[in-house]
Amino acid sequence: MVLKEDECDIGKIHGESNIVDAHNDTILKLIEEGPFVTMTRGRFDSLGNEKGFLQTPVTLSGPSNKSKVDLSKTIEGGVNCLIFSCCVSPNYNAPLIRLLQYLDKLHSAIETTKGIRLATTYQELEEALQDSQIAALISVEGGTPLKKEISVLRTINKLGVTSLILTHFGRTSLGDGSGKDFDSHLTNFGRSVIKEMNRLGMVVDLAHLNQRGFYDAIELSKDPVIVSHANVDKLVKHHRNLTDKQLRQLANKGGVIGLSFVPNFLMENGNKTNSKASTKHLLNHIDYLKDLIGIDHIGLGSDFDGGGGLSDLKDISEFPNLTKGLVERGYSPTEIEKILGENFLRVFKSVLPYQ
Ligand SMILES: [Zn+2]
Repeated sequence: MVLKEDECDIGKIHGESNIVDAHNDTILKLIEEGPFVTMTRGRFDSLGNEKGFLQTPVTLSGPSNKSKVDLSKTIEGGVNCLIFSCCVSPNYNAPLIRLLQYLDKLHSAIETTKGIRLATTYQELEEALQDSQIAALISVEGGTPLKKEISVLRTINKLGVTSLILTHFGRTSLGDGSGKDFDSHLTNFGRSVIKEMNRLGMVVDLAHLNQRGFYDAIELSKDPVIVSHANVDKLVKHHRNLTDKQLRQLANKGGVIGLSFVPNFLMENGNKTNSKASTKHLLNHIDYLKDLIGIDHIGLGSDFDGGGGLSDLKDISEFPNLTKGLVERGYSPTEIEKILGENFLRVFKSVLPYQ
């Protein structure tokens, strides 16, 4: 989007900021519909196609109105660091193969899209930003493909995965997801995964984790942790949102929450298809967090192509609308830069290997 002349200060702040979007599911739009690997139970539409995938996938270079993240939209939105997440449904009976298909697709999409560069170390991230490239990081959402094999963690790290969301909605071998919360602690395997992630310099992502597991992970991790995409429970009751206690502990650990743009996490009665959720609601969550835990722990994790999208922030090209809202609510340029990206960059710098 192009800002009008009287909005040039907003444009200046936005244009000079490093902007991190800590979570998208765009891989689902880039890869051919499944199943390549037989699933044990249904997630299919009436035609037998797996839900969530396009009949004809789009490319990362775009442009396409079928995905909310592509090169031109990302440039237009001024976003220069993206975390592409690979969420493997536990319904696959060969989840590791499905993950390898995702990783293969993401690598080739990034390699063939001029302007986007994979970053697996902090130096690579820093260099991409310095060269005015969009830095792409890869995360895995849900520990399902790991089963109980720590060797898988080490290997996917070598394949460019720099962060792991321990669970998705349900239970994995690492712990309970917030959608199926049996009030369990992290498993012994989950604990060993966190220790190994600390050793490898991987970012521990506690989005989707149940509360007891969340506190275990905070206590155990020697590094700051992130919650890449979630919102504030005090404002909208949802198992995916964080309570004040969780938020305080996250901040005490030096971590960052990436606020999602998912309507039903942001406003009561929000839904994906007919939502009135807007940046106004997102800004309410930011205001609340600033008061509760301070400006240094707030970031953004849109969840575009996985349920994220607001009436005035429909895709990544509309990120400047958020900066405009922050300016209008009186946030200083330094505070805005922190929210837009510097807070996440601080954590990445402290966790990822430099070289
Ligand atoms: Zn998610």
